[in-house]
Amino acid sequence: MSRTLSKSRYITGLQCEKRLWLKTWRPQLSSFDESTQRIFSQGTEVGELAHQYFDGGVLVDFDYKNPDKAIAETEAHLQNGETRIFEAAFKINEVLIVADVIERFSASEWCLIEVKSSTRVTDVYIEDLALQQFVMQQAGLKVGRVEVMHVTSGCPYEAMENFFTRTDVTAEVKTILPEVGSQVEALKNVMNSKACPDVSPGVHCKKPYACDFYSHCWQGMPEDTIYDIPNLSGNPARLEQLEEAGIVSLADIPQGFPLSSKQRHFVDTRVNKKVLINRQGISKSLASLSYPLYFLDFEADNPAIPRFPGHKAFRQYAFQYSLHILESPDGELQHREFLHTDATTDPQPELLQQLLEDIGEEGSIIVWNRSFEKLVLKQLAIHYPEHKPRLNGMVKRLFDLMKVYAAYYEHLAFKGSYSIKKVLQVICPELSYDNLKVSGGANAQVAWNKLIASDSVDERKALEDGLLAYCERDTLAMVELYRHLITMLKE
Ligand code: SF4
Repeated sequence: MSRTLSKSRYITGLQCEKRLWLKTWRPQLSSFDESTQRIFSQGTEVGELAHQYFDGGVLVDFDYKNPDKAIAETEAHLQNGETRIFEAAFKINEVLIVADVIERFSASEWCLIEVKSSTRVTDVYIEDLALQQFVMQQAGLKVGRVEVMHVTSGCPYEAMENFFTRTDVTAEVKTILPEVGSQVEALKNVMNSKACPDVSPGVHCKKPYACDFYSHCWQGMPEDTIYDIPNLSGNPARLEQLEEAGIVSLADIPQGFPLSSKQRHFVDTRVNKKVLINRQGISKSLASLSYPLYFLDFEADNPAIPRFPGHKAFRQYAFQYSLHILESPDGELQHREFLHTDATTDPQPELLQQLLEDIGEEGSIIVWNRSFEKLVLKQLAIHYPEHKPRLNGMVKRLFDLMKVYAAYYEHLAFKGSYSIKKVLQVICPELSYDNLKVSGGANAQVAWNKLIASDSVDERKALEDGLLAYCERDTLAMVELYRHLITMLKE
């Protein structure tokens, strides 16, 4: 039985033939995370919204379980002389595409439009559209124009009429169109073969998309690989040199191999299993702190479609925070928290009000990765200019504990990462994130969106508890990582 190549499988196959084969023959090995699911559902929301930006049109009811029905429906609409069709389905020689929008461009030509929930055109979209044009032309439709309809960067809630930007990519698609036929045949062969293609894991496992078979393919790889070297993927020629020499483990990189000083330092530290601690640097940094110490962490959402007045497309807004407070070196640790749970109101006014009560006018505000908390505070200052001086004052008081670790504390087990989870796992393993239901920023976004959409009391309670526990763990982690440095300096 010959298998159908859909456009998502085509894009999957262009990224990695092994990924396409595994999707076809071993789908049970795939592991999708919830944040990927959120990207998909955001894409669906934006796609549906796009229909409202056209003056009429007919919608084909597409169901992957029964594509033939949608194909017949599309054909009927074409026969009826419809001039705009949403979700038009075509299948030629076992290649199936569903076009977001097709509309009459001239008496004999069609305009093909792909709707995307991102703010720019990427190479993958061009590949995707080239396949669609290829199939439509085989189905007897002449495509005279090709567009990507994407989100207008920073589009405000108040100007939703400008939410989409339509970019003409006809020329870009035309350039790669001649290659589509041979690529289609090659990928169909992959899908119909019983043998898994022999593809080694590499940079392509994360680009252009994080592969859902990552855990399967990377098991058994050396602990430290050339793909961990900072910024090496930005220099494909150098990376290829190592790959072609069969070098995967950091330990196998020859001493004379050209690397930047930062990369060489990274490799040597990892290979020689060094722990490097600069006590003087740590002491100097911590000396700038003043009590009370506020350990702060926000969780924020950034939906493509702005939800409230003053919001913009993809702009972050906080819905939650956790705050641990240490009034003095020997003082008792206090905890405050905020979580917004209602879908119909902007979380920011209440969050801000409580934040202003919880954080006094003096003392350092300790965060992990300052740029994010700074962004959230700056957003609040834009939305509520009456509190701008106070919020700008908070921004000036931010102290990035991550930077202290990144600059002065190198540990083999960090594996070059200064994510709070990774550092905590090494310094304070008893306080891990393992037992938490929510365990990452992207995960928190997904959980919060589920929470505000849910009508189930039990589900809401479970999600609230999960979110509160996760955010509290982040700030408690900072407290413990701070205390670890203080204790170490006293030894
Ligand atoms: S993990 Fe890498 S090698 Fe494995 S299927 Fe995915 S992209 Fe291909």
